[in-house]
Amino acid sequence: MVSSLHRPTKAKVDLQVISDNIEITKAHLPKNTQFFAVVKANAYGHGAVKVAKSIEHQVDTFCVSNIDEGLELRQSGIKIPILVLGVILPHEIKVAIQYDLIITIASLEWLKLAKKEGVCLSHLSVHIKVDSGMGRIGVRSFQEANQLINGLTKHGANVEGIFTHFASADEKNNTQYQKQLIFFKELIGQLKNKPAIIHASNSAASLWHTDSIMTAVRIGIAIYGLNPSGDALALPYPLKPALHLESALVNVKEISRGELIGYGATYCAKKSEWIGTVPIGYADGWTRDMQGFSVLVDGLFCEIVGRVSMDQMTIRLPNYYPLGTKVTLIGRDGKQIITATQVAQQRKTINYEVLCLLSERIPREYV
Ligand SMILES: *Cc1c(COP(=O)(O)O)cnc(C)c1O
Repeated sequence: MVSSLHRPTKAKVDLQVISDNIEITKAHLPKNTQFFAVVKANAYGHGAVKVAKSIEHQVDTFCVSNIDEGLELRQSGIKIPILVLGVILPHEIKVAIQYDLIITIASLEWLKLAKKEGVCLSHLSVHIKVDSGMGRIGVRSFQEANQLINGLTKHGANVEGIFTHFASADEKNNTQYQKQLIFFKELIGQLKNKPAIIHASNSAASLWHTDSIMTAVRIGIAIYGLNPSGDALALPYPLKPALHLESALVNVKEISRGELIGYGATYCAKKSEWIGTVPIGYADGWTRDMQGFSVLVDGLFCEIVGRVSMDQMTIRLPNYYPLGTKVTLIGRDGKQIITATQVAQQRKTINYEVLCLLSERIPREYV
């Protein structure tokens, strides 16, 4: 999809805010904790290369979800370690070694397949993933972990880390969190050759469960300034959102009582009304369920009326505004603010998804 540069719709990303969020997070970690910044999925929609380049000096490692995201960073000149969090199949190992990407190994079966395929593991650095209760990927016992560490080492790989991931560190009820932590700590205690880097905390765990913090933390959503729990749990220290989404009015008209708006004619004016058109739609990641939510114009909330189309949507204005008037979809305008978390609540989803769905069509501008 081509980035639409000749349109007023854009995401403004404040790189200094991301940097500040990292510093305040670090200030609350024990000294010498390694900071892994998670920049997968285009840095949660903020632009992976720009973000990574601007924070490379502040962090120890970048985490991405697959090989290609790692390649993008290497090709842009990123020098610090990059850990691929997802599982990659053995036949892709060559490119990981070539570009110096650390990969995650999540099962003994993976090693068997690598051996069967004759894949060379020397010069490969890996972290072992432990499934402590998330149920997605990872070894499920200390026996499997020990066998895997020995087997990988024997075949020339450098097992430098081991980690797990929490399923519910962002919830009030911490029963499952505790179970996972105990499982992981017991497994680590039974390793014959303990890797040097041991990590478990995502943003939520590092914010609300300091007992999860081991030699490193993997922080994603918090560096972008959002609360991983939505608004279920209060942040122990302030974070500031780094992304602001805005557009502008490209059509303004007065319609009469009874006139209909948009696909399906779902909105009918009750009286004479001013309607503005904004060039953003579901192809931009501004999904159809945003109908009924609001945007900000001139510091005032204006309802999204009628269906959200692929490329456009319509809003009800309190009065006439000229073409080109700024429309704020996420961020502050005057005294009012719309957060990604509020957008997520409207959609019955999480703020992570709101950011990740912002499509390539929306240019990212850096301030
Ligand atoms: C995405 C991810 C993270 C970061 O999670 P946040 O909630 O954004 O901090 C950490 N670890 C793993 C394994 C992940 O997949």
